[in-house]
Amino acid sequence: MTTEQMNIDRKLSEFPRARLMTEVTQVERLDRLSDRLGIDLWLKRDDLTGLSFGGNKTRQLEFYFGEAVQQRADTVLITGAVQSNFVRTAAAAAARLGMKSVLQLEERVPGMGEQYYRSGNVLLAKVLGAEHMHFPVGEDEVGADNALHERAAQLIANGHRPYVIHLGIDHPPLGALGYVQGGAELGAQISDFDAAVVPSGSGSTHGGFLTGLRLSGVHAPVYGICVRRDQDQQYARMEKVLGRLAALMDFDPAIVMNGINVWDGVLAPGYGQVGQGTRDALTLMARTEGIFLDPVYSAKTFSGLLGLLDEGVISKGQKVVMLHTGGLPALFGYQEVIESI
Ligand SMILES: *Cc1c(COP(=O)(O)O)cnc(C)c1O
Repeated sequence: MTTEQMNIDRKLSEFPRARLMTEVTQVERLDRLSDRLGIDLWLKRDDLTGLSFGGNKTRQLEFYFGEAVQQRADTVLITGAVQSNFVRTAAAAAARLGMKSVLQLEERVPGMGEQYYRSGNVLLAKVLGAEHMHFPVGEDEVGADNALHERAAQLIANGHRPYVIHLGIDHPPLGALGYVQGGAELGAQISDFDAAVVPSGSGSTHGGFLTGLRLSGVHAPVYGICVRRDQDQQYARMEKVLGRLAALMDFDPAIVMNGINVWDGVLAPGYGQVGQGTRDALTLMARTEGIFLDPVYSAKTFSGLLGLLDEGVISKGQKVVMLHTGGLPALFGYQEVIESI
């Protein structure tokens, strides 16, 4: 372990943490895709983080649930899109730690069919016994959080101890701490890559990953593929996330601020909506490597990687690491879309 990694571990150990994943995730070289694309392509397998079909939210939730356990919470409340992986993974973590969960599902994606509301993550959350709430709009983070607080107030009145995981950006980015760990973990596995490609949604994954790499002394560019907002809005969001993360962990934000790279070339037609590039990326990965990507995040991220290669931002021959953030249950929520591929 290098001095940098020891310092990151020491810093992270100051925060309460509930262990939800036990081991580091593997990084594998994708030989056939590397040949096909003319780059040296590696995949960090955070689809295999373990808890309830894996994915990036397991890392993030370790720090939220750490705080929830410390506060002796008995119920965790969280909000997200109907096919949110965050709320499904939170319900699994709550079950594992002996808590109840309240999941609020927001109408964020227009025009979806019946499977979207019944299968995939929705079905899994039912199995996990979570309470469900509905929120009519998908672009009101503060309103969605307020609705959770109203439910939390009722729970308190009934003698419970609720813990709210906020969606709004004006709260400490505890989830990003999980990806500071994730970035440091990758830096210890391989550090000689030319570029990393990650999804950029709430920014917890992107911001934490960038920070973990920089604090480990890895200076390769980290490209955040926009999955939710256009690149101007996402850039502003990343500045806020990184500013809050720097304050939380007490490091100089200058070491990460000039490393914000966001690209929205594959965002269309919008959050949770699947265009042709995303479909092609999803089938290319499956048919070349036997690895599944999800339609909302990881297939868009891979589509983004292909776009950056097309534009020459990533060049032939470079060593590139893509973060696979999981999300696979959503494949079943998008059955109609997948069937039309
Ligand atoms: C939530 C999610 C993301 C986006 O992560 P953020 O930390 O919100 O930016 C990416 N991939 C998957 C599979 C997700 O569930």
